[in-house]
Amino acid sequence: MALIHLFRRCNQRCVFCSYPAEGGGEESSALKDWLKEIAAMPPGLVQLSGGEPLLAGADKLCLLLAAVKKLGRRAELQTNALAAAELPEEEIKRIARALKAAGGYFNVNFPAAAPALDFKTTRARGGFKKRLAGVKKLLKAGAAVRLTHVISSLNYRKLPAFASYAAKNLKGIAWLQFSYIKGIGRAGGSKYLPEYGAVQPYLEKALTICRENRIHCEVDHIPPCFLGEFYRLNVDMVKMKEGLRGPHLEEKKQVAACRGCRFLKLCPGPRKDYIAVHKAL
Ligand code: SF4
Repeated sequence: MALIHLFRRCNQRCVFCSYPAEGGGEESSALKDWLKEIAAMPPGLVQLSGGEPLLAGADKLCLLLAAVKKLGRRAELQTNALAAAELPEEEIKRIARALKAAGGYFNVNFPAAAPALDFKTTRARGGFKKRLAGVKKLLKAGAAVRLTHVISSLNYRKLPAFASYAAKNLKGIAWLQFSYIKGIGRAGGSKYLPEYGAVQPYLEKALTICRENRIHCEVDHIPPCFLGEFYRLNVDMVKMKEGLRGPHLEEKKQVAACRGCRFLKLCPGPRKDYIAVHKAL
């Protein structure tokens, strides 16, 4: 798996943004630089991220996706979907076709089931309505759409409400990932990182609702010991079982409390930034 940040430019200011808040290296919007970077990356899925990748426009994105395909790799296009609502339908169809040809899918960050919470999380006025319209446009264009719902201190109590919302209003999505906030970038520090134990009952309820509504789900950045009967939905377990390398091994580490755990061989442990904030599991 390989992640490329096309640029910093974005139309939101999410509290959970993991892109470095300030500084960082030089960024290039030149297609040739992106292609060079991708060609040098480790094998596997190519994750096109930003900023907001759709702001690159259809021409550049289609060329980029064609190059990913030529390398025999699959692509994931990460987006908040606001630009999808704004771009002409024909452009969205072109991007969707190029993405499909690269065996890929859109990964849409969808942080809330209501406008007020959406705004609190993304600071994008009118973002909720646009995001919903954007997702519907992507689905209408025939694209595979995965949703990512980032769990933070702002929204964890609303997880069951989000699951119900998705079941009712986001039919047609390929799958839904509940992803605990990374304590890096703009989200560095403790403010938005709830305790795993506080999240667990709400998440289990949300996963139950998804199961009842046949929404395929997965969970990232919350260890299996906090997922109750849903422990198999933890995405690291498959990677660990297959011995895959990746960020899960660098970002997570087992702690003293892991001793004797039944998942010891299948779980890399909690996120290091979580332990830096909460000191223990
Ligand atoms: S290894 Fe540690 S973090 Fe992972 S499931 Fe076991 S106790 Fe939890």
